[in-house]
Amino acid sequence: MSARVLCIGGIDSSGGAGLLRDAATLAAMGLESCAAVTAVTAQSDAAVREVQVMPPALVASQIAAACEGPVDAVKIGMLGHAALVDAVASALPDRPLVLDPVLVSTSGRSLLDDDGIAALLGRLVPRVTLMTPNLPELDTLAAALGASSEKAIGLLQDRGCRAVLVKGGHDATPEVATDWLYRASAPVAEFHAPRLDGTLRGTGCQLASVIAGGLAQHLDIERAVQNAKHMLTTRFRAACDMPRDAAMPSASR
Ligand code: PLP
Repeated sequence: MSARVLCIGGIDSSGGAGLLRDAATLAAMGLESCAAVTAVTAQSDAAVREVQVMPPALVASQIAAACEGPVDAVKIGMLGHAALVDAVASALPDRPLVLDPVLVSTSGRSLLDDDGIAALLGRLVPRVTLMTPNLPELDTLAAALGASSEKAIGLLQDRGCRAVLVKGGHDATPEVATDWLYRASAPVAEFHAPRLDGTLRGTGCQLASVIAGGLAQHLDIERAVQNAKHMLTTRFRAACDMPRDAAMPSASR
């Protein structure tokens, strides 16, 4: 039987991001998924129109039901507010956990409030195998920790987060986008991918899902990240209509 990933997050009605994207991504890897829905949103690519968060007890119940079957890894995305973070933290199975700290949509809507960020740092971060903030998310988490972004990475690890993948897609480098993987017991690994022209929604969800799928298949963290970068570059290249021989991502230390 193929590995199964529990995805905890929101429904993006447009299908661009969220659980629909997670499930499609895992299916494309030949993996099974199950879900706990934290919120239902009405959105287009341009705007998040409405957000309805689910009752925390219902989210906990979905996680418990999912855990009646096999769960090989867990991926967490949108959480909405602190009560949902607490419910998820209490119900989580002890499995490899990828946390995509979904704080704000590309269109600018907040998807986790300040109390939720504090709860995420206090209750979820200690359980995390790999956290995947982009640069603006890292800045927000750093501000909540009262630290610089550089220091925040160490503070997240001090709290029990085993690894942090900082996604550099928002920085200003013109040709190459670099992500940095921080682990306590290894040098920083860098992942380089060609910077393609365009914006795709749901790339954060997709990257975290592929990594969770890799961990569910017992890949180590670095290999799971490398695989995910390849899959994302392929999607970007197809969306941007790049020639087949355009550069693929590479890793270095
Ligand atoms: N809506 C939901 C339910 C999400 O999970 C996410 C991201 O994970 C978003 C919206 C934001 O996606 P994007 O940043 O691609 O707009």
